[in-house]
Amino acid sequence: MSLGEFDLIQKFFTRSVKRAALGVGDDCALFATSPGMQLAVSSDMLVEGRHFLSTVAPERLGHKALAVNLSDLAACGAKPVAFTLALALPRADERFLEGFSRGLLALADLHDCELIGGDTTQGPLNICIAVFGEVPVGNALLRSGAKPGDDLYVSGTLGDARLALEVFRGAVALEGTSFDAVRSAMETPQPRVALGMALRGIATSAIDVSDGLLGDLAHVLRRSGVGATLEIDAMPRSTVMAAQTVAWQRECTLAGGDDYELIFSAPPALAEPVRAAAREAQTGVTRIGRIEAQAGLRLIDRDGLAVENRFGSFDHFRS
Ligand code: ADP
Ligand code: MG
Repeated sequence: MSLGEFDLIQKFFTRSVKRAALGVGDDCALFATSPGMQLAVSSDMLVEGRHFLSTVAPERLGHKALAVNLSDLAACGAKPVAFTLALALPRADERFLEGFSRGLLALADLHDCELIGGDTTQGPLNICIAVFGEVPVGNALLRSGAKPGDDLYVSGTLGDARLALEVFRGAVALEGTSFDAVRSAMETPQPRVALGMALRGIATSAIDVSDGLLGDLAHVLRRSGVGATLEIDAMPRSTVMAAQTVAWQRECTLAGGDDYELIFSAPPALAEPVRAAAREAQTGVTRIGRIEAQAGLRLIDRDGLAVENRFGSFDHFRS
């Protein structure tokens, strides 16, 4: 006998809640934000073939589904509180559900983020999570706050997820441990929650990199009414990335996507607090350019020479 809808919810997605007043099982979940805090809400959907390949292990898929949502909270400097899970499944495959829920709930536990409800239906595999976080009133990091003269930074390293995708596509060849490393970057991104929180009151703007650095940076520039110069050879790279051709390095780090790192701006006078925040969050940050009053994005290479911006950004309706 295969598992029914309510057995499935009970077995894989029902746990006792600690912080929320009411979790899975009623018509609504209930939870309160702490005094002086604002609720930060975000939702991201993952569709098979679009956001993940059928080859991904269920445990990693569970991790990634929540990670991309937590990354949005990180970009706002919010602390994760709770999430809901809307799931369309082709069938009640217990092996899949066991792995998926394990990966999902392990990351949830790591960030103290409770699963408080959702929806389950039969259909093509589709995962939609809504995440709730909290941030002190007026303290959220926004896309709109970058100021001329600010330094531009990015966390971690860029481009590995795209490099892994190119290996799957057959455009790049990588062996054994190198492939495993970039594949992990693609399948199990680590949301920069601690860094986002540590940057409250320091960063003037922030965004997470989901569609590629240049495209996501462009959102910040537009919302802030500013421009920037970016040092394209200053992009932080893994050792695997650093071993690729310069053309692939630039393509993957600047226009790769699926990085889930934070791009943020801060005044030069706060360079030391930025470094302290990075240390506190145990996350590397690299200065990659400067915000300027002149609109538009200017790219320069390691010699300070202008480079034409021929790099695309990911758009679901254009690619
Ligand atoms: P309703 O029909 O009232 O929307 P459902 O029958 O869909 O409720 O769901 C029953 C309970 O199980 C609700 O509390 C709902 O939030 C929860 N739930 C359903 N699917 C999931 C899921 N995938 N993960 C967590 N909770 C879920
Ligand atoms: Mg109901």
